Amino acid sequence: WTPEQYEANGRLAFARIAALRREIRTVPVAPAATPAQVRGALDPVLPRQGRPFAEILDDTWATVVPHLTHWHHPSFHAYFSNSSSGPGVVADAVVSALNVNSMLWTSSPAASAVEEIVIRWVCRMIGYPDDSDGVIVNGASLGTFYALNAARDAVPGLDARTKGVAGRPDVTALRVYATSHAHSSVDKAVIALGIGLDNLVRVPCDKNFAMLPSALADLIAADRRAGLTPVAVVATDGTTATGSQDPLGAIAEVCRDADVWLHVDAAYGGLWRLVPDIDEVSPALDVADSLVVNPHKTLFVPMECGLLLSRRRGALGGAFRLVPDYLSTQDGNGTVDYMDRSLQLGRSFRALKLWWVIRSFGLDGLRARLAHLDELADLLRRRVDAEPGWQRVGDSPLPLVCLRHVPLGHRDVDGLNVRILDRVNASGATYLSKTTLDDGVVLRVSIGNIQTRRDDVLLVWHLLRRAAEAESGASWN
Ligand code: PLP
Repeated sequence: WTPEQYEANGRLAFARIAALRREIRTVPVAPAATPAQVRGALDPVLPRQGRPFAEILDDTWATVVPHLTHWHHPSFHAYFSNSSSGPGVVADAVVSALNVNSMLWTSSPAASAVEEIVIRWVCRMIGYPDDSDGVIVNGASLGTFYALNAARDAVPGLDARTKGVAGRPDVTALRVYATSHAHSSVDKAVIALGIGLDNLVRVPCDKNFAMLPSALADLIAADRRAGLTPVAVVATDGTTATGSQDPLGAIAEVCRDADVWLHVDAAYGGLWRLVPDIDEVSPALDVADSLVVNPHKTLFVPMECGLLLSRRRGALGGAFRLVPDYLSTQDGNGTVDYMDRSLQLGRSFRALKLWWVIRSFGLDGLRARLAHLDELADLLRRRVDAEPGWQRVGDSPLPLVCLRHVPLGHRDVDGLNVRILDRVNASGATYLSKTTLDDGVVLRVSIGNIQTRRDDVLLVWHLLRRAAEAESGASWN
């Protein structure tokens, strides 16, 4: 492309983006098309000749965009509702245009400097020591994997980095502890590290799905007595199913006494601490040896942007530092080579989008927007609580509302709630997800999109009640 084409084609693309933003409430949140229809819309022929950009853009808007589930839609409330925002969207384009590789300080000095700054800012936002080590990763799953790798490296005398763990008579089974509500990324990390799923010990929870520290202490003590090797506890701040928060203070005490690394998966909950009402009732994060937070969930930063932080200085770098001759540099003036803190060598300049988003909204702007979303969750909670035949589940202060319809005497409450969910989602007007707990199926309404308004949330409630009436014959005014 010539510079003129960049400008002209950029205008075309951003005009599309602007129009989509303008019309978003008229667009179905999730497509009704079958997989065959989605695939069938795409031209399968490998093109020999290039096509004009305007044609590719038109074609994308005709064949791809209508078949997407629109995560940026203000009525998307499934999984964890997230959002891209203007500065983040444009930053992604600029990152691609600059195309720097932020692996070494010298390979792109200012990119590393920006990463340092945003890591420090995020630490301040969540109440974590701001001289902690950190690294921007694609998301929390990899962050948790790296953290557990560092935890394994911290086990005295193990030296898994050099010797591995297989076939060593001096090494007993490595053990990791988490509740059954921990995210599956913990299971994946345990698989990838060769610890094995059998050694992921499930710690019992209380009635609100939060880890029981006394049970954790007992499990670790029993493992020590049996000669096994406790490595890490993974506690969660904002579980995926219900947004429950493990009691980090008491868990940290157990970890300190047992000399076990505490990793906190704060992918969802961490950054909601910007809202004073949530911060007040949430456990402090500064007790974690390492933690992950996801600006791409909570902070209006487009995918992919997660942060791994550790107050154990040097632990993240120690795990992966390897400097072949072709990567060696002459500096060493306290600069960071971010390649040392993850498996990735080549790294895009993800820090830019976080930097732009934080600078564009400012702390006050971020806080105000998140507080507004939190108020919308409270609004929905109040409506549910006031309605006979509906029940809220869990006590999370985070803006994830879990609910189920439980009409008196109904024989198949789980089936009923699944049908309500299907009916609501088929409307195209919103998109929710479900989880299954001991007591059965629960519907989840996650509120976290920067564009979501009061009327969007009231619409979800209206659709839920209408679907419940259609499915169960319940009557309401
Ligand atoms: N932890 C929690 C609690 C999550 O809910 C999720 C994803 O939703 C993850 C970790 C994984 O995050 P990512 O998709 O950024 O890897």
